[in-house]
Amino acid sequence: MPVTSRVDGNVAVVTIDHPPVNGLGHLVRTELLRELRQALASDAIRSVVVTGRQGCFSAGADITEFGTPRSTAEPTLAEIIGEIDASAKPIVAAIDGTCFGGGLELALAMHYRVATPSSTLALPEVSLGFVPGSGGTQRLPRAIGMAAAADLITTGKSRTAAELAEIPVQRLFEDVYDGDIVVHAVQVAARIDDARPLPRLRDLTPSDRIGDDQLTEMRATLRAQHRGLEAPVAALDLVARSATTPFDDAIAEERGTFLRLVGGAQSAGLRHVFFAERQARKIPDLPEETITRPIETVVVIGAGTMGCGIVVSFLNAGVPVTLIDTTRDALERGRLTVAAIFDSYVRKGTLSAREKDTRLLRLRTSIDLHDGGNADLVVEAVFESWDVKRSVFSRLDAVMKPGAILASNTSTLDVDELADVTERPQDVVGLHFFSPAHVMKLLEVVRGARTAPDVLATAMTTARRLGKTAVMSGVCDGFIGNRMLQSYRDAAGRLLRSGLSPQDIDSAIESFGFAMGPYRVGDLAGNDVGWAVRRRRYAENPDMPHDTISDTLCEMGRFGQKTGAGWYDYPNGGRNPVPSPVVEEMLSRFRPGIASGERPTDRQIAERLVFALIDEGARILDEGIAQRPSDIDVVYVSGYGFPRHRGGPMYYADQIGLDQVLATLIADNPDGWQPAPLLVRLAKEGGTFG
Ligand code: NAD
Repeated sequence: MPVTSRVDGNVAVVTIDHPPVNGLGHLVRTELLRELRQALASDAIRSVVVTGRQGCFSAGADITEFGTPRSTAEPTLAEIIGEIDASAKPIVAAIDGTCFGGGLELALAMHYRVATPSSTLALPEVSLGFVPGSGGTQRLPRAIGMAAAADLITTGKSRTAAELAEIPVQRLFEDVYDGDIVVHAVQVAARIDDARPLPRLRDLTPSDRIGDDQLTEMRATLRAQHRGLEAPVAALDLVARSATTPFDDAIAEERGTFLRLVGGAQSAGLRHVFFAERQARKIPDLPEETITRPIETVVVIGAGTMGCGIVVSFLNAGVPVTLIDTTRDALERGRLTVAAIFDSYVRKGTLSAREKDTRLLRLRTSIDLHDGGNADLVVEAVFESWDVKRSVFSRLDAVMKPGAILASNTSTLDVDELADVTERPQDVVGLHFFSPAHVMKLLEVVRGARTAPDVLATAMTTARRLGKTAVMSGVCDGFIGNRMLQSYRDAAGRLLRSGLSPQDIDSAIESFGFAMGPYRVGDLAGNDVGWAVRRRRYAENPDMPHDTISDTLCEMGRFGQKTGAGWYDYPNGGRNPVPSPVVEEMLSRFRPGIASGERPTDRQIAERLVFALIDEGARILDEGIAQRPSDIDVVYVSGYGFPRHRGGPMYYADQIGLDQVLATLIADNPDGWQPAPLLVRLAKEGGTFG
């Protein structure tokens, strides 16, 4: 039974018991209402406690029901809350564990709330593109104040009950109690069973106000942060209503906004990504019961940009690391970089000074590979050079204990060829982190032709342990993400040649919702990195066309922010890009007699870049490099700044229509260029990637 009841003296205890997270799907709503009505109607009952099992009050709506009739079928959560509002008997929420979304809205409608200190509360709706729809935007400001509520609702972040109880004027909790919360709630319910009038948050006013100027500033900040996503600003505006609008009118407005956003394209895109991320963990030919190898100690080779970020990721997850490089100087620099990252956490207040020291104590450094020979996992992050990596892998083969997993962070090199260097190709896998490795969520797990199933399974679970979103990729130059990026950059290069400037292209793709355009990214990451990769590719494929504009930029020493100049100028060592007359002059040399036809609109510019991603994505899918289109979406959303609310390139393609994508690609590409066969086939059949 998803909802059960028992009686304790004069108190009815109603328990939501619907694993895994007590989601408020249609069945739970129906039974909850029935049990509540029964308790409220019974003469023997003077007060009611509502709680949840499985260390969870309720994680809120069942999002698998979204878009189906069940999500709006009666009784809705709003109806249940209406009955609570009308109740003549006190109702106490006993909160332990997760209390999110609709679960929190339900609790907010009750007369009293008690919670264990570690319970986590949140209204995370904005992360799925909508706003709370059952009173959350009106009751939470009355419970903890408008400013605190606005912060919680517009970010979707969770806070513990202990933290929320610290808010100076709070009417959220009757008390926070460290013990059996149901026993405690029953005592509270028995104590207050004749207290009248019943305290209802709806009858109060928020204890503070957000002024008009402050509101304008907050809206602007949210717009800048969320680049086109509607829900956070809509949520803020609803919170603001709690001070100005009668409760029932504001609730009606909240409901209207909720319904509009939940049925809109942005929420659909965000929900797609939510499910895609969960799906990406599954590898069809890898049995779920595959036993993983224990990872208790790790070696990271290379104390450079990536190595240090990877070290921090493992230390954050509590895994001791030995960092290896060729010189003590490099190791010292690495240790300082790692310490500086922890210092920044301490400054932000997310890490205590003591915990920082504990983490640093788990880091050893050495110039001798033998010092790491007993580790369970090695992550190699040395220079992107075949010769250097080959020599490192052959030494690893000689030194590492049997069964150790040998992983490479290579961005472009062939993981199978690296495996061939060793006598244990089954233990070799790619772990492609993104820069900065301790920040970026994405981890491409590259499965070699002979990678053993348990090595693959261990790589996927290790990613989760690090808090990363793992996506499996097959072996190819650039794997999923960087290979598609090449097509995207090529499309940008064609636009440059046609007469547009780097800033035209960057601002168009940024207004589409990308975090940063390709030229700003190049300047940030270092244009020399791509240059080194291109030179290797030119050597390997003598017929390949050269990217002469980018090569010329690098020959001019314009590597980006690190040299104070790249596609943009960075005057006085700053980080603000300024359009560069030098670059404009250089570009003019590559544009013989341009500027025929009209300048494309921002939308057209963005589509050329995004459609190039889609075309390459279709090839990657066809070749089996990606398991499913949604995996490609996850790569782009979590690793490349693709706007999450647009669902990723492959999902976006399906929304636009593949025939339209194909027609635009054909019109924009050079003569002789062939679109991806899978795209052509699906467009002809009227099919979709999904
Ligand atoms: P980096 O130049 O910053 O660091 C490389 C480090 O490896 C240096 O400290 C160097 O001293 C050390 N090293 C070189 N040879 C070594 C050896 N034989 N033994 C031990 N240490 C050695 O390079 P990076 O940017 O950190 O890149 C490292 C790897 O990560 C490359 O394969 C690169 O393609 C990949 N990668 C880089 C990025 C990025 O954005 N920088 C992103 C993803 C993957």
